[in-house]
Amino acid sequence: MNHSWQAIKQKLRGTQQTRENDGFLYYNITGRQLSLLILLVAATITAGIFGTQQLALHAAASDKSLPIYSVETEDQQKRISLGINCAWGSSDMPALLDALDDAGVKATFFFVGSFVDRYPDVVEEIDERGHELANHSDTHADLTTLDAAGIEAEIEGCSDKIEAITGERPTLFRCPSGAYNNLAVDTARDLGYEVIQWSVDSLDWKSLTLPEMEERILPNLTYGDILLFHSGTDYTAAALPTLIDEIEAMGYSFVPVGELIYPNSENIDVTGRQFAPDSAF
Ligand SMILES: [Zn+2]
Repeated sequence: MNHSWQAIKQKLRGTQQTRENDGFLYYNITGRQLSLLILLVAATITAGIFGTQQLALHAAASDKSLPIYSVETEDQQKRISLGINCAWGSSDMPALLDALDDAGVKATFFFVGSFVDRYPDVVEEIDERGHELANHSDTHADLTTLDAAGIEAEIEGCSDKIEAITGERPTLFRCPSGAYNNLAVDTARDLGYEVIQWSVDSLDWKSLTLPEMEERILPNLTYGDILLFHSGTDYTAAALPTLIDEIEAMGYSFVPVGELIYPNSENIDVTGRQFAPDSAF
């Protein structure tokens, strides 16, 4: 017992308290850390009651609805995705878009509805340049505090705005601040959306410089990763050309999130990694 609680405390200390530049405070734990934490808590409780950890491992794995954090790509192809959350700032958007164009990279932009209200021309431009448009809620509300109707209003309100400008309705949804519970994930899926988290956080909103982002991102990169960036930060637009070059030099190619994931498949392991629909993990 003591040993397990010690491990839990260590995991908690290892998490970083942070937030998106556009969001609320949240614990920025990775899917793997989250799963370990859930498993450790469940295993500790169950070990005390039943004297075994196996039961808890099974229960913890099956009870939680997880978004897609990353993807086990077919034949382990070195494909990854670049996602950009758009909530407040757009002053760096021309530079961001030029950097992506110069590199020939198609990214996935996750829009908050209020951003779409303020910058419809920016959304249109991003669409015209061939990037993927995705939904990041209408007002960036904390979905874990809402009922199903409230969650639906947040999701569909944003899609209505994107569709009004581009004529197309997004099929990808990312929870505000990455905060979710079963109701949020299940409601989004019931509405027909793929729920997308991320596996590599650039922390660009914290004004990390290029060397700091390189150190954070490059050593841990693996195929099927989904990278998180934001619009309206200090260094992202300037850092992207170098980061993209370095990542491509490692053998990776960028595809939009919609081309990375397996559509309509909830074959997702406890770390949030999605596998091919008929494969075991
Ligand atoms: Zn956000």
